[in-house]
Amino acid sequence: METIPDNDENGFIRRLAEQYNVSLRFEPLGEGVRGYKIDSEIVLNEHNPPERRNWTFCHELGHIVLGHSMTPTDAEEREADQFASETMLPQRDFIPDSGDIELDKLKNLYPHASYEVLARRSLQFARGVVTIFDGEHLTARMGSDDINFPPAPIQEEMDAFRECCEKKADCVKTAKDLTINSYYVDQGRSVVRIFLVTHPLVDV
Ligand SMILES: [Zn+2]
Repeated sequence: METIPDNDENGFIRRLAEQYNVSLRFEPLGEGVRGYKIDSEIVLNEHNPPERRNWTFCHELGHIVLGHSMTPTDAEEREADQFASETMLPQRDFIPDSGDIELDKLKNLYPHASYEVLARRSLQFARGVVTIFDGEHLTARMGSDDINFPPAPIQEEMDAFRECCEKKADCVKTAKDLTINSYYVDQGRSVVRIFLVTHPLVDV
């Protein structure tokens, strides 16, 4: 078995490929294409950032391990996503780490996962609302099951977003019943992502 160096940006998935006896290949696929599997080989788009390739690998590995057909059903897609979540961020380790949804801390602990995967997984266990902006554009807004929240960000959240854009740095804002942590994520790609994590004391 070859030794995989710690600084290999694909180390996480190379180890999984060995563990599950799956072969792994990188190819220049078209824009928007994440990858695919044929039998027990997973092919990933070499143009995608490492964290996205990691997620795609774990999702496709889920289809293989769970014995899904070549044309998975919607239910099988959800199973493959759940397999990917559990493989990247195992519940037993992740629950004690995710309580406050501190995305910068989580990224240090789990560098192989993207901020978005970390945020989505956190909301399975911790209470809060996460809003994602790409540049000025609102990309996603999601919350834990136990919170009722409006589909659009409220005034205090937009204020937190603007402050984070101006300072180009992580910020914390407290409003009367809320704490809003904003994370400025510039990974040198075309757009900067900003994550707001809203912690409500009462429902937003
Ligand atoms: Zn799939």
